[in-house]
Amino acid sequence: MKIGVLALQGDFALHRQALERVGVESLEVRKPEALTAVDGLIIPGGESTTLLKLMDAWGFVPALERFHGKGKPLFGTCAGLIVLAKEVLNPQQFSLGLIDMTVERNAYGRQKESFEAEGEIALDGEKRAIRMVFIRAPRILRVGETVEPLVIYRGECAMARQGNVLVSAFHPELGDDPTVHGVFTRMVAGRSS
Ligand code: GLN
Repeated sequence: MKIGVLALQGDFALHRQALERVGVESLEVRKPEALTAVDGLIIPGGESTTLLKLMDAWGFVPALERFHGKGKPLFGTCAGLIVLAKEVLNPQQFSLGLIDMTVERNAYGRQKESFEAEGEIALDGEKRAIRMVFIRAPRILRVGETVEPLVIYRGECAMARQGNVLVSAFHPELGDDPTVHGVFTRMVAGRSS
């Protein structure tokens, strides 16, 4: 099993380190052709407008739609979540629409543009504490009926899954808690085994 990390922009290197911590081989994906070599893909945080421009220039939009159509898992963190969401506000912008949610960019307020917080993650029917780092994070305003919220922070969803798409508003690659990368790894392994 190999997990790709979209390496056009943002903190892809830290995701590779996080995958190494859970014992998974990874690959930096810079061209759509490389998608055939991976079983799942992480879209990292960064700046979603820049990321979208680069994705468009390299032909990643149809390639990721095909990747998703084959049932291969995707995991978007922060800007990656924005790129995968169905509807984006502040301002409205193009997105792949692969997870049914409405998100508002940069929505946690100026004074706490970046902050750490404690939340709860639902894992196999149990709840565990999780430390989260938010950096100019998007806020999930609405989730569709078939979207499963996995982390709740202050009564709002901060991480969710719909089918083979996982998203988090925070940055699980920062810090040394392997929990979230473990969740994605199991999604990918469940598919390729
Ligand atoms: N604020 C960024 C955006 O709107 C996301 C920030 C991040 O990925 N840490 O795209």
